[in-house]
Amino acid sequence: MLIDSHGRKVSYLRLSITDRCNLRCLYCRPQSEWTFMPHEQILSFEEMAELVDVAKEAGVEKVRLTGGEPFARKDFIPFTGRLHAKYPDLDLRITTNGTLLSGRVDELREAGVSCLNISLDTLQRKKFEEITKVDAYDQVRAGIDACLAGGLRVKVNVVALKGINDDELPGFVDFARENGVDVRFIEFMPIGYQSRWSRENYWPAEEIIAAVEKLVPLEEVLEASRNSGPARMYGISGGSGRIGVISAVSNHFCESCNRFRVTSDGKLRTCLFSDREYDVRSILRDPGHTMQDLLDLFARANAEKPLGYRLLQDREHNQVCDRAMTAIGG
Ligand code: SAM
Repeated sequence: MLIDSHGRKVSYLRLSITDRCNLRCLYCRPQSEWTFMPHEQILSFEEMAELVDVAKEAGVEKVRLTGGEPFARKDFIPFTGRLHAKYPDLDLRITTNGTLLSGRVDELREAGVSCLNISLDTLQRKKFEEITKVDAYDQVRAGIDACLAGGLRVKVNVVALKGINDDELPGFVDFARENGVDVRFIEFMPIGYQSRWSRENYWPAEEIIAAVEKLVPLEEVLEASRNSGPARMYGISGGSGRIGVISAVSNHFCESCNRFRVTSDGKLRTCLFSDREYDVRSILRDPGHTMQDLLDLFARANAEKPLGYRLLQDREHNQVCDRAMTAIGG
C-alpha cells in the first residue's frame, strides 16, 4: 500500500493515453505551433497495461484514461476493453472532449465503459470555436446525446472562465436538469508553460455556487461529494441533474489527494502542481526489469509526494508547472 507521511493513500491513477489533441483550448494548449512527442517515446498499450498491473498491485482501485484526447489514439477502445476484461472490479473511467464519440457508443459499452467525463465549456457553437479553435460543438453535443441514449452515464466538465462562460450559468443549470447529468465547474488552474491564466478569467468556486443559488435552490449531496473525489456536488431541486465545483485553486484538497499521474511518455507525477517526474518508461523498457522495480519506484515517488498548494502559494498563483495540461492529462 502506498501511504505517505501525511497519511494519504494512493488509490487512483490517471493515465494519459496520448499527448495529442484535436482541440486547442485557450486554457490548455492554445498555441498553433506545438510539437507533440515522437511516437517512440509514447508508451505502447502493452506497457500501459503492465503499468496498470503494477498500480493494482500497489493498491490502486480506480484508473482514469485521459490525454490529450484519448479517442485520438488508434485502438483506444479495444485497449479499454482488455483492461476491463482483465480487471472487472477496477473502476475504469475516461475523460474526453467528446468530439470523436459518435458511432462508437455500442463499442464503448461492449468494452465495459459505463461512464464518461466529457469536457464542454460552452453551450454556444461560435463560442466553442473561440475557446477550442475548432468548429466541433455539434459533434460534442451529438456525442453526449448518443451516450445518454445508449445508457452511458455522462458527467460534463466545464472550465470556469470569468468573462467567457460565466454568463452561461443559467444554460448549464438547465442542461444539467433537462439531461439528468452532473455539470462540474473546474477552477481555471495556472498550469503549463505559457499558461493563459489570468486573474480576470479566474472564477472561484464559492462565487459559482453563490451565483447558482440565486437561480435555483441547491442542496449539497454529501454522499456524492464524498464519492466524487475533489468535486463538491449539489442537487438542483425540481430535477435530477446536479451541479458541482472543483476548487483546485481556492480550496485545495491536497490533504486527501489519492492520485498518481502517468504521462503518455511514461513519467510518473505525484502532484499536478509539481514538475517532479519519475521515469517509469526506462524501467518498463529494461528487458531485465521486475514488477518489484516498478513498485520500488512508486514507493519512492510516494514518499516524496508534496503538498501541492504550497507550490501554488509560492508562485502566487502564477504558472506552476512547465508541461501543458494536454501532456499531463488534467
Ligand atoms: N481531451 C480530454 C478532455 O478534453 O477532457 C482529456 C484531457 S484534458 C487535459 C482533461 C481535463 O483538464 C479537461 O476537463 C480540461 O477541461 C481540464 N483542463 C485543462 N486545462 C485546464 C486548466 N488550465 N484549468 C482547469 N482545467 C483544465
